[in-house]
Amino acid sequence: MKSHVLGIDFGSTTAKVVILDEDGNTVASCVSQKGAVSDEGVRAALRGAFEQAGINLSAVVRVVSTGYGRRMLDIADRTITEITCHARGARALVPEARLVIDIGGQDSKVIALDRNGLVARFAMNDRCAAGTGKFLEVLARAVNVELDDMGAEALKAEETVAITSMCATFAETEVISLLAEGRPKQVILAGVHQSIASRTVGLVGRVGKHDPIVMTGGVAQNIAAVHFLGKALETRLIIPTGAQIAGALGAALFALDDLRSASKVKRDDDDAVEGKLEQLLADPQRCTPACGKKETPVTFKA
Ligand code: ADP
Repeated sequence: MKSHVLGIDFGSTTAKVVILDEDGNTVASCVSQKGAVSDEGVRAALRGAFEQAGINLSAVVRVVSTGYGRRMLDIADRTITEITCHARGARALVPEARLVIDIGGQDSKVIALDRNGLVARFAMNDRCAAGTGKFLEVLARAVNVELDDMGAEALKAEETVAITSMCATFAETEVISLLAEGRPKQVILAGVHQSIASRTVGLVGRVGKHDPIVMTGGVAQNIAAVHFLGKALETRLIIPTGAQIAGALGAALFALDDLRSASKVKRDDDDAVEGKLEQLLADPQRCTPACGKKETPVTFKA
């Protein structure tokens, strides 16, 4: 029987699991939506992936975890940041990628890659819903549209309205006022997506725009987010199949490296990423009502 490796992305809103066999073939991938970071979500994604692959944990020889809750998993042999894992996963899906835009449930990141696919720089917007999937979720609820439909609805609009509040809580109030004024839902939703796009353009500006640009994370499934962001960046974004599982795929590929070399393959870039990520997450100022100017670019290489 073949050996297998697992990549687990314990995200803030979803859990993602990718299983590779020892030849590097993806034999299963599963996303579990549980609303908030939880063990239960990870267990559900693991069950789904094992069922797809037709194996159980005894066939798994290496596990790498990533994501917001990566340190909460006992079964992981090691943890790697989601920055490094998204970079690796995106590059596996799109080998020519030079910039990765990962918009997830609670944060968004822009990662510049060097020619070899290593992380050169990144910027992130964290502990604040502005520019993240959470912002979209809150405002979908405010206009009473399902998350899955909000992108298609926004693209029906022939005009947009500016949503000036970057904070999701204030934007929600703004949206409710716009609805009360009789503005159509579609037009408001177009404005909501435009707001996400302009936040993300700000992050891209901090690391530098390098084509080709790949989008990963759950928000890559939102067609209006992709449309407005592509328009704002004046480029065609590449959305690979499996954009949402890119981080878990990256983690699984690191697990495969470990298996093949029979030891933990060192990634110099991840040590630097990990240190900077800790610093950014420890910043108590990251979530304030005036949060618009909080992203800090982090550079590793000249
Ligand atoms: P994390 O890794 O932070 O848990 P994900 O990368 O899985 O988050 O992204 C979650 C976000 O993706 C949600 O907040 C939501 O905005 C978006 N999303 C997930 N599924 C869909 C969908 N089917 N259509 C539109 N947006 C989606």
